[in-house]
Amino acid sequence: MLSYHDALQIIRDTASSIILEAETIPLESALGRVCAKLLLSPLDIQPFDNSAMDGFAIKLDDLAGASPERPVRLKIKGVIPAGHPVKDNIVEAGFCWRIMTGAPLPQGVDAIVPIEDVHQHSETILFSNAPKLGQHIRRTGEDFKKGTSVLSVGDRITQAHMIALASLGISKLPVFKKPGALFISTGTELVDDLSQPLQDGQIYNSNRIYAHALLPACGTILHGCNTIHDNKDIFLETLNTADEKGIHLIISSGAVSAGNYDFVRNGLESFGAKILYHKIKLKPGKPNLFAILPSGCLYFGLPGNPVATVAGLRFFVLEALRTMLKEKSERPIFARVMNEFPKKPGLHMILKGRLEYKDDGSVNANVLDGQESFMVSPFLSMNGWLHVPENKENIKTGDVIEAYPAHPYGHLV
Ligand code: AMP
Ligand code: MG
Repeated sequence: MLSYHDALQIIRDTASSIILEAETIPLESALGRVCAKLLLSPLDIQPFDNSAMDGFAIKLDDLAGASPERPVRLKIKGVIPAGHPVKDNIVEAGFCWRIMTGAPLPQGVDAIVPIEDVHQHSETILFSNAPKLGQHIRRTGEDFKKGTSVLSVGDRITQAHMIALASLGISKLPVFKKPGALFISTGTELVDDLSQPLQDGQIYNSNRIYAHALLPACGTILHGCNTIHDNKDIFLETLNTADEKGIHLIISSGAVSAGNYDFVRNGLESFGAKILYHKIKLKPGKPNLFAILPSGCLYFGLPGNPVATVAGLRFFVLEALRTMLKEKSERPIFARVMNEFPKKPGLHMILKGRLEYKDDGSVNANVLDGQESFMVSPFLSMNGWLHVPENKENIKTGDVIEAYPAHPYGHLV
């Protein structure tokens, strides 16, 4: 059986062959999208030298000897508001300009003295200190230099990027087109309509709703969430339709284990798919399957137990999406476990956890009760996934382990 990390590597190697086209979109709709081309600063920002304070533009020579005992008096030449074009304003000896934050500097200015540091006497200003050269002046290009790199291929656009890009006047930008996805739930026992009472033997289809919320939030165009009641023919028809729609990845839940109705592997093989792995040393989700269809579409066969489906989406499907979008692989958080958890070596474990961010900057991790792969009640209090490597035995209090936030793009949605 394949190790968890080898499975991830197969996913990366396979997903890297998928080429997503670029499209140019307005900045307003770029949140969460991924930059497809190196973006250079089109401007110097600040675009002109300007004042960082409301105050007075002065020459150093005029205030060289200023002190509280012997203040220097300068006449006001005029007022420079923000938003005015840079005109022929010049600071002459013996004069100062009243200037507002963001207003262009007059020529010859050496420093800005904030309004709080002066006294006004009718038409003159009293300065009680010699300012430093360049104080409270924002220089052209101090924030961004024209032609320098702003965004690289694979950068996912956050709110923080938006403010920088807007400052540069970048009204549109090249991003990767969203990959198309299809989610298939399998199981004759599943009920999609959550308002219907359950009949004997039935359960609500929870994976479908989860995928419906997650996949678009992770940057895919979701072409559907189909439910197949363990019928291989309908499965094959669905694969055919997906091919016609140019879908990049199909994710199914259920029907990949050893049960009588587990038709996914068999169906994929008769469709001509290449199975890249089936079964990994992982809990939850030992029967995980990964394949590539003749069209090049990726196929994730996730086991149907909801925790196996959610963990498979979180760690396998999202890794494939990151690879397609040329994003860097996700780095773990290191957290100290606060409770014991029995484990035998041989399986990589992904546990439902609760991360606590401590005052000293460290992170504590609690392994939640209810780790069985059918148990979804812990999701109500879980905020992170805890990874325990294949060869590790029994988790002890104080062990440091790798953890991941429950949702990697939480700040984007
Ligand atoms: P399977 O992988 O098809 O053998 O399913 C494993 C377990 O997960 C069974 O108890 C199924 O009833 C359950 N299950 C499968 N699909 C879903 C789903 N979409 N929503 C909730 N539970 C599911
Ligand atoms: Mg099933």
